[in-house]
Amino acid sequence: MVTNNSSNVIDVIQKQRDFFQTGKTKDISFRIEKLKALKQAIVENEQSIIQALQADLHKPELETYIGEISVIKEIDYAIKHLHNWLKPKKAKVSVEFFSYSARLYPEPLGVVLIIGAWNYPFNLIISPLIGAIAAGNCTIIKPSELAPHTSHLVANILNKYFEPEYIAVLEGGVETSQKLLAEKFDRIFFTGSTAVGKIVMAAAAKHLTPVTLELGGKSPCIVDSEINLEHTARRIIWGKFLNAGQTCIAPDYLLVDQKIKKNLVNALQKCLKEFYGHNPANSPDYARIINQKHFERLAKFLEDGEIIFGGETNPSERYIAPTLLDKVSLTATVMQEEIFGPILPIIEYRDITEAIALINSQPKPLALYLFSQNKNLQKRVLQETSSGGVCINDTVLQFGISSLPFGGVGDSGIGSYHGKASFDTFSHYKSVLQNSFWLDLNWRYAPYKGKLSIL
Ligand code: NAD
Repeated sequence: MVTNNSSNVIDVIQKQRDFFQTGKTKDISFRIEKLKALKQAIVENEQSIIQALQADLHKPELETYIGEISVIKEIDYAIKHLHNWLKPKKAKVSVEFFSYSARLYPEPLGVVLIIGAWNYPFNLIISPLIGAIAAGNCTIIKPSELAPHTSHLVANILNKYFEPEYIAVLEGGVETSQKLLAEKFDRIFFTGSTAVGKIVMAAAAKHLTPVTLELGGKSPCIVDSEINLEHTARRIIWGKFLNAGQTCIAPDYLLVDQKIKKNLVNALQKCLKEFYGHNPANSPDYARIINQKHFERLAKFLEDGEIIFGGETNPSERYIAPTLLDKVSLTATVMQEEIFGPILPIIEYRDITEAIALINSQPKPLALYLFSQNKNLQKRVLQETSSGGVCINDTVLQFGISSLPFGGVGDSGIGSYHGKASFDTFSHYKSVLQNSFWLDLNWRYAPYKGKLSIL
């Protein structure tokens, strides 16, 4: 079991550097063997994972499958494609370089650091780890201290299945993060808030360590009038109230065409009752807020508008009912900060131009949702807004598509992962140019006299 005092941090990094130097992690069969071991570790510990998430977040079993254990699909995807990803890629050369060949060789970076967040505390560690293993790196992991049961479980599982000189878990809070960030890594992969992302990037700059920052922000959800109302309501409610709204890509607020606002609100309310019953506090399918600090932060948001559904709270259980908030001012705190909880403000617009202008007046979001069957409107929103990703006529599921790189832009993040993007994130593509000996043209060699005219 690895502990996290300063000398241990340095010791673990050095042992990983030594292990990386042996070249073992570069071997493709080693990488595949470790990916298989990771899959086995998850399968064998499925029940403990469910229990840890239940203890940390009251996360329903189905949500743990969808949001955490489903990371296994990423392992299968990496195993299936790894041979192909590792092949050097040919690059074209122009005609005057006819005797040369150019290729791109992916190579591992070395020793990488993964720092996780608490909301999907298993997935957000394991998913980048898959990329780090596939790309041939050694990895140090710092899970979030705010989900302590999952943090201990991740440490126990990974320390049981892997040697610390290859994969090591260092548990702890901000202090442990700071000790790690003081050291040099070959990449830091951070998931968390934009504010802490800036701290991570500043620390990384001291060593010129490259960073991938998977951050947050306010992800808008536009609802046009040309929709299937029932499907729209179900998909919004599911994506928003999954994990009690504590999902980085949850729709943060709705921008609704005023023509359908009344009907949409009715459909959302009906759907909430169907999903969680008349008292969601008794529903086995509804999670809790991670801690008291976040509970209090969210409870204040309830004062920022008119509650038209929900609004009940219970501090001792850290319960906040799924809540719809109407008549919200754009200057209210709930519209200025990322909500990251089960409160959904509903803003209406008269013309899509207004909705686009509002989105563009805020930092670039991680996700943008659009419900509309109108092709021209879809095209306009895609062309006139910028976001990490877009999902049309659904929510959240873009996270689960391995062939779609996942990441933010601007304040919502730097870099991306999932599928091949994870492999690329933890690789360096080495450019290799090769000449042959059958020809050696004279044009570039001195003396240069008279040669300029050939060019
Ligand atoms: P956070 O930034 O508070 O913490 C993330 C990690 O950073 C934790 O491991 C924590 O120990 C560490 N940390 C905290 N303060 C630090 C400091 N001063 N110095 C160094 N390390 C520090 O984020 P969080 O509360 O765990 O997660 C919520 C945020 O993460 C939200 O903004 C959410 O949108 C975002 N998020 C993004 C994604 C994504 O994939 N883009 C996924 C999940 C969560």
